[in-house]
Amino acid sequence: MELNERADIDAGSVQDARGSGGGGGGIGGLPIGGGGLAGIVITLAIALVGGFFGINSLGGNDSAAPPPANNLEQCANEQQRVQLLECRNALYVTSIQRYWQQQLPESFGEQYKPATTIIFSQRVSTGCGSADSGVGPFYCPADDRVYIDLSFYQVLSKQLGAPGEFAQPYVLAHEYGHHVQDVLGTEAEMRRRQERDPDSANQESVKLELQADCYAGAWANAAANTVDKDGDKIFKSLTETDIQEGIQTAGQIGDDTLQKQGGGQVNPEQFTHGTAEQRQRWFRVGWESGDPKQCDTFKPGVTL
Ligand SMILES: [Zn+2]
Repeated sequence: MELNERADIDAGSVQDARGSGGGGGGIGGLPIGGGGLAGIVITLAIALVGGFFGINSLGGNDSAAPPPANNLEQCANEQQRVQLLECRNALYVTSIQRYWQQQLPESFGEQYKPATTIIFSQRVSTGCGSADSGVGPFYCPADDRVYIDLSFYQVLSKQLGAPGEFAQPYVLAHEYGHHVQDVLGTEAEMRRRQERDPDSANQESVKLELQADCYAGAWANAAANTVDKDGDKIFKSLTETDIQEGIQTAGQIGDDTLQKQGGGQVNPEQFTHGTAEQRQRWFRVGWESGDPKQCDTFKPGVTL
């Protein structure tokens, strides 16, 4: 996989909130400070509800100040743009959002609404409450933002056995899959079904997560052809090997894989994201078809 240094990052697609008080400095620098007890409780709840690659719908904290952030000025330099981790991620986000800008109207007749990715360090205050890095990347429907501490990629690589570079755009494309679900109302509908039938909550969550994996696959199918605002290709090369890394990542973060890794028994009742096999298969459905309409994990009778 090679990125095109001439491709431009879309303005506003990614903001860097590291070292701005939302993370390393100020209250955020304390291990569990700042948010007080409520913050701790919310953080724990996110970890339980979200798992890795979560969606965080606990919502309702509109008073949370958006983290002060810069717009990745360091990525203006073409060499740095393809070398620095945050710039590469901003190019991935640009590719993913360009894909949906075109695909959402085509497939679903809806206009895409851009969503900003916030890069944070250690701890961040969001429209869904405060969170720390331990929960992994997540999407917050209340403020339409994706949050990621880039150190998560080291966790993926060193602890979860997914070292491939393509793990990164896969993670981001999965989170933007949740944003698409938010735009389409899929997530809100699911939430209502969970409230009506709490016993179905985990199963509904699995459907939502597998659909986000499938949307990530649909983007992967088209990624090599995505272009920036001037029509420059964002990827110089993207091969089958890269995609296989994405599929490998999907396997490494299956609920069963994570439960085994945690030393515990595999307990399907507690699955919220799907098994390794399911996550890989649904990514593949999106990738092979290139058609997000094939990602209907909520269709009655569908094999998950
Ligand atoms: Zn997810």
